[in-house]
Amino acid sequence: MQQAVLKKMMGAIAHTLPDEIGCDECFARSDQLAELVLEGKPAAELMPLVHAHLERCPDCREEFEALLDALRLTL
Ligand SMILES: [Zn+2]
Repeated sequence: MQQAVLKKMMGAIAHTLPDEIGCDECFARSDQLAELVLEGKPAAELMPLVHAHLERCPDCREEFEALLDALRLTL
């Protein structure tokens, strides 16, 4: 009984964000997102999945901010 409830809950959590991407995909696209940000474009609208991942993943956000800093230095 309890196991069935747990399984149901896990299923509900897994289906909350069906389009979410993982860290690997986020990392693969983060340079593209960084370029949009530096160009002053609406990065969150153009790449919502990557942006959403950065919002909830502190590790990737840290990487992304470091990338932004590095790119700003080259401008
Ligand atoms: Zn991540």
